[in-house]
Amino acid sequence: MEILNEIKFAMPSLSVNESAARAVVSSFLIQADPTVEELSDIRTAVSEAVTNAVVHAYRGTKGSIELTVRLLPDRVIYIRVKDRGCGIKDIKQAMEPLFTTAPEEERSGLGFSVMESFMDRLTVRSVPGRGTTVTMRKRLTAHGD
Ligand code: ATP
Ligand code: MG
Repeated sequence: MEILNEIKFAMPSLSVNESAARAVVSSFLIQADPTVEELSDIRTAVSEAVTNAVVHAYRGTKGSIELTVRLLPDRVIYIRVKDRGCGIKDIKQAMEPLFTTAPEEERSGLGFSVMESFMDRLTVRSVPGRGTTVTMRKRLTAHGD
């Protein structure tokens, strides 16, 4: 699909970059004039994906996280969060509500559920030992200028 505009943002897996990623997404999306609620939903979804890369993908190590944000035709926002961390063995299980591999860390296993409910589409691709790529799309409502 035609890409109208795109940014890529690479960051090390530090938890402080969860808010940096939210800020980058917000500033890029200003051009699409989202509603307050749409922007909040997208920021939350991005935050969950980046947090997962920080806490799960690079558990005990450090690595790079790449965030891509695209503006597609028909006001569709495309987001990709990519890591080269440990990967996910069973994606279907990982995406089940309340499933977590870190219950002792007050993780509730709801990150993927949040991404799924706040965005229109969520795709997770992962290879154990190679990393995980989360892609999400959301179509912004049309509203008069
Ligand atoms: P919460 O998001 O509610 O704090 P959580 O992170 O455990 O808890 P999800 O975000 O739904 O819940 O993720 C479910 C599980 O999928 C995680 O516990 C982890 O095992 C695995 N996971 C998610 N993202 C990644 C990733 N990028 N790399 C490796 N494993 C991941
Ligand atoms: Mg999570």
